[in-house]
Amino acid sequence: MNDSAFYRFCSRLSFTILVLISCAISIHAADRVIALKAARLFDGKSKTLAQNGVVIVQGNKIVDAGSNLPTPTDAQVIDLGDATLSPGFMDGHTHLTLDFSGNYNERRLKEVDLNVSEQAILATRYARATVEAGFTTVRDLGSRFVGSKEFVDVALRNSINKGVIVGPRMLVATYGIGATGGHFDPTSGFRDMLFGHEPDFSQGIADGPDAIRKAVRFEVKNGADVIKAAVSGGVLSLADEVDTPQLTPAEMAALVDESHRLRKKVAVHCHGDQAAKEAIEAGVDSIEHGSFMKPDTLTLMKNKGTYLTPTLMATEWIMSKIDNYPPALQAKAKAAGAARSDMFRNAVKMGIKISFGTDAAVFPHGQNAKEFKLMVDLGMQPIDALRAATGNAADLFGIAQKAGTLEKGKFADVIAMPGDPTADITATERVSFVMKEGKIIRNGPPSASPVAISSDPEAEIPAD
Ligand SMILES: [Zn+2]
Repeated sequence: MNDSAFYRFCSRLSFTILVLISCAISIHAADRVIALKAARLFDGKSKTLAQNGVVIVQGNKIVDAGSNLPTPTDAQVIDLGDATLSPGFMDGHTHLTLDFSGNYNERRLKEVDLNVSEQAILATRYARATVEAGFTTVRDLGSRFVGSKEFVDVALRNSINKGVIVGPRMLVATYGIGATGGHFDPTSGFRDMLFGHEPDFSQGIADGPDAIRKAVRFEVKNGADVIKAAVSGGVLSLADEVDTPQLTPAEMAALVDESHRLRKKVAVHCHGDQAAKEAIEAGVDSIEHGSFMKPDTLTLMKNKGTYLTPTLMATEWIMSKIDNYPPALQAKAKAAGAARSDMFRNAVKMGIKISFGTDAAVFPHGQNAKEFKLMVDLGMQPIDALRAATGNAADLFGIAQKAGTLEKGKFADVIAMPGDPTADITATERVSFVMKEGKIIRNGPPSASPVAISSDPEAEIPAD
């Protein structure tokens, strides 16, 4: 290319770039403006509701939000009447690729029976049910299929992000990390060597600080947004006690250090008091469940600023369906259920940071909002329960600069529920409008084929 040819090439290139930029600007300018109106507005952080709420949305962002705002002349107005506008709810603890809600032993059999592709297709229904219930963001804390190394949660998140399927924004953990024989060992309770080998870091099972670091690195390599580990025993596992510590302090230190170096938050499954103390000392970001935590452990949590994700719905569901579980698990559920109410009341009184989280999958997906009433029944103010599921959750998730409140520049994740949720917290269970990133997912009744869950087990078991 000589000089003049090069000059012509450059001027054509700059012209093309200019055309592309002006197209992009005009597409942006053409984004429809939507004005959402309702009698009340909860902004995700304030202690009171605002009256005559208005949220102005353009593209995927909030342009303005507040009380009695003027409506732009070109805006499409959606007046939701005697309702409350709120940031989309956030659930800090779901398992959208799984369903543990039916009979425990039948579910274990189904897990080794259905192939993982089929389970992944079911997960698309769980994702839809969750977002239609008003949950526009979730932390999905563990996805695993025994004997398989599929990353279904990563696939689900990516498919939602690409618009292939409808679901909440997901921050996924891939496999929960835990000790051999611990709560997350997928082969616990099965005959030794049934699956031909002991699970290792590549399924989240790791013993010793170096192996824990390897597991964290492997998960981040494969798409984890957040790291989940089991530091104590759990309810729905067959080879452990519910409150025994399952990682050593040295393993927890490695877990937290490696995750934080890679800028990932650490959420730990923990019922036991000793394990919780050690995990809080190690610097984890949230304690999930926390059933047996004593007041001095809560004090430590308060001093360290560690979040609690209470998951009251999980124990509530198991206790209401106790016959669905083998006797050993019934005993563990009863012990955890008896302890968690006092623990939660103390946590509220002491002003521990609380993020809303349910353990959805233990109960049918889409019923997440029932957690609100359980929180309020145990002493939390309704407005604080709402804040736990919006601004506070966004803070724990590390996305507060993008979502969690109705403020200019944030993602337009906006929901509406009838009446005043501070007067009747169960209004959260009747969300009637859902917008995620400016797109209306629901305005009125939920989609015709909501999640089929285990209430219709025939629908999920292949005919013979
Ligand atoms: Zn869980």
